[in-house]
Amino acid sequence: MNYYPKHYCGIFGIYGHPNAAELTYYGLYALQHRGQESAGIVTSDGKQFHEHKGMGLVSQIFKGNVLHDMVGPIAIGHTRYSTTGSSHLRNAQPLTGSCARGQIAIAHNGNLTNAAQLREELEAKGSIFQTTVDSEIILHLLAQPTMQGESNNLVRSLHRIEGAYSLVIMTENELIGVRDPYGFRPLCLGQIDDAWVLASETCALDLIHAKYVRDVEPGEIVVINRNGLSSMQAFPQHHRRAFCIFEYVYFARPDSTIANRSVYKVRVEMGRQLAREFPVAADVVVPVPDSGNCAGLGYSLESRIPYEMAFVRNHYVGRSFLQPSQLIRDFDVRVKLNLIEELVKDKRVIVVDDSIVRGTTSRKIVQMMRDAGAKEVHFRIASPPITHPDYYGIDTPERDKLLAATHDLEGMRQFIGADSLAFLSVDGIYRAMGFDKRDAARPQFTDHCFTGDYPTALTDLAAQEASPRQLSLLAEAI
Ligand code: AMP
Repeated sequence: MNYYPKHYCGIFGIYGHPNAAELTYYGLYALQHRGQESAGIVTSDGKQFHEHKGMGLVSQIFKGNVLHDMVGPIAIGHTRYSTTGSSHLRNAQPLTGSCARGQIAIAHNGNLTNAAQLREELEAKGSIFQTTVDSEIILHLLAQPTMQGESNNLVRSLHRIEGAYSLVIMTENELIGVRDPYGFRPLCLGQIDDAWVLASETCALDLIHAKYVRDVEPGEIVVINRNGLSSMQAFPQHHRRAFCIFEYVYFARPDSTIANRSVYKVRVEMGRQLAREFPVAADVVVPVPDSGNCAGLGYSLESRIPYEMAFVRNHYVGRSFLQPSQLIRDFDVRVKLNLIEELVKDKRVIVVDDSIVRGTTSRKIVQMMRDAGAKEVHFRIASPPITHPDYYGIDTPERDKLLAATHDLEGMRQFIGADSLAFLSVDGIYRAMGFDKRDAARPQFTDHCFTGDYPTALTDLAAQEASPRQLSLLAEAI
């Protein structure tokens, strides 16, 4: 078990708009895919904060006149999904606090990898924590007037934390955007009228008709106040960049553009590359919706095998439906997907999905194909096998639950029951991103899920492995 529950999130911020709360609400709507467990908005009217947070979907939380009461031209918002055990309203973000500098609100996407260590240190100095989320550590660090004997500031605080963080921070009169020096998680900058916008993904800018300006750079701090926007680099320019390639594979919405690459086009390209690497004679290509749609299209275009949307997805099944038990997981696939039998009966079918995590979905899908009378089922995965857990804000399970960490290719094929199984190669995924291959000395992205090459120290994990009893006692205590 990890000391801190893992979570993934969407963040949004706006400065200088009379309808800041409403636009944040719509921004969060577009970022709902990044977290469906809780959401919140905090506005500032220059003197006071106004906040509303709740459990569930954005549309369920901000009902009635809630937004009307959230006055002020600055706002930040957050959508959150976490693993079971930490699903409490008190963990919903943005987090707010008051300190010597005034009021502060923070919304965080990513996971810190030295959170347990820092929390112990802060608690030893007398900090009282209100939540069990790692993001609160950033709030506590920012609140400290001095650090290591010198006057504290944002840059100093950032230098204490390790891991992944895209942040939007609000004070009474300012909006601040920050990306960690690796740039694990996305954050972009936009403009609507005279207002500045920060959002996890460009799809949130599109919805509110904001113009995309640029991505916030890894290690960059942008400060927006009545003097306009100013920017600074908090880390040396030669710092390694490590945007998480899994954002392109699965996490981001296909209508977003990240670092000048359309997520949709990259996914189609991953499918094309997969078809080049692992062709197979078949009658039809069927994607697993929605995660396999683009890659399936790419596979079909490249192989010239017809594409059929044979699976129909029920879009009214929210993540809140998901329960961790294996029984419910199996059941969940059928609730979510129904197969149009006549499109696959007596056919040789290539099923394309973006990734295999535990293998439960793929196994169920092969069974559905067999039940529908498919002659052959060839599974093609548009990313390499996930052999390592993520510690930077994508919810993947521990190693012993990852199919590819516990089985070889033939073992995986047998587990899911397909006639053949193939994964896009590691170099292949880089090819789909426009590179010749992975630069082994300095990989262009972080691909730790596929390679085990974690770009940062995993301080808490190392401590946990050194002393599992001590940390599990601590975990129980919070
Ligand atoms: P599994 O049944 O555990 O193998 O799940 C595989 C499915 O989950 C694939 O269709 C993926 O699109 C999707 N998936 C991949 N990564 C994640 C994640 N971090 N959280 C939720 N779903 C995911």
